[in-house]
Amino acid sequence: MTAPSKALGINTQLVHVGERGASPQGKPVSTPIYATATFTYDSMAEVDQVFSGEKQGYIYSRYGNPTVAALEEAVRVLEEGAAACAYATGMAALHAAIFACEITPGATILASQDLYGATTDLLYKVLGSYGIKTVTADFSDVEALRAKAREVKPRVLIAETISNPLLKVCDIATCAEIAHEIGARFIVDNTFTSPYLCKPLKHGADFSVHSATKYLGGHADVMGGVVVARDEVDLPTLIGVMKLVGGILGVWEAHEIHRGLKTLSVRMDRQCDNALRLAKHLENHEGVSRVYYPGLAPPQNQGTIKRIVRPPHFGALVSIELRENTREAAFRFMDALALCVRSTSLGDVFTGVLHPATASHREVAPKRRLELGISEGLVRISVGIEDVTDIIDDIEQALEANA
Ligand code: PLP
Repeated sequence: MTAPSKALGINTQLVHVGERGASPQGKPVSTPIYATATFTYDSMAEVDQVFSGEKQGYIYSRYGNPTVAALEEAVRVLEEGAAACAYATGMAALHAAIFACEITPGATILASQDLYGATTDLLYKVLGSYGIKTVTADFSDVEALRAKAREVKPRVLIAETISNPLLKVCDIATCAEIAHEIGARFIVDNTFTSPYLCKPLKHGADFSVHSATKYLGGHADVMGGVVVARDEVDLPTLIGVMKLVGGILGVWEAHEIHRGLKTLSVRMDRQCDNALRLAKHLENHEGVSRVYYPGLAPPQNQGTIKRIVRPPHFGALVSIELRENTREAAFRFMDALALCVRSTSLGDVFTGVLHPATASHREVAPKRRLELGISEGLVRISVGIEDVTDIIDDIEQALEANA
């Protein structure tokens, strides 16, 4: 900016003084929070060059921001992808990934029947109203999936690395092969595993999507989402959704998530160890009729888990079905917990419990929920980093109170 030639009035000073000075000397060791909506340049010629792409630079934070870009780059590297784009939430990220698959009216999406409830709603209720059809299948039966894919010729297949809430592990490589054989793309929601436990793109998926609200952030204090693409050609569409739909990640959130990332492995190592200990403890508990945990899967299913999930881990979610398989029993058990938090999320440092039938899968018709195996007495536990004995003691006393 050209320096003004006369002394400025107090109102003008209030607005401008101290702003837009030279960049500081010395590189910050953490990415600063660039809390700015827009960026200025010394001349209009430069602005024009940045707009045209001739010169690199930031213009407007809906088009890109250095704090957000630092997080995108971190997640891209961790996922071993070619490009990454961050959004306001995991749902916004899923929406962007689906759009990047060039779905148009008349297209079909082949979705896992075990997706997070809101993702299923996005497919049926939002995309359905634009003439996009969704067909669901059990992605754990890969031969039936192959037949269904050949029959319905979808443009996109979508699944979760570990499904919600029954924790089925997806054979990503086979599902990717099924998708590519018919020219479709494969989106994997990698929220439950994070890139520390699984890198879907390495197994052939086209997009890895995160609700960064969960393990990436890790502290239940921020919401966000990230899409990582295997191929750089998808970046313009991902950026296009960011610019034009506008569900961008805020700079404060990007900063929090980036900070969370730094302890991801430390948290997940502890969370996975605790989850395995808890699952084993509950396996033969008289108050529990069934424990869902990939680490307790029969040996014939362990192959997929070991290929997909970083050994020796099996994830940090455990679902249990109470012996008295009713909503009342589930509520009694959850109300009796004194340490574990009744919380509609997962992946946090504390242990959180959720009742899928009334939370994540509330919108699914009761009959369909039962067909999917989501009973009224099912409780999902997102295991935290606390001392495992404290977690076990709390769950024990709540089961006893329920007996
Ligand atoms: N994917 C999975 C597996 C989830 O569990 C959730 C939220 O619970 C989402 C996506 C949506 O994420 P967000 O709440 O950040 O929009």
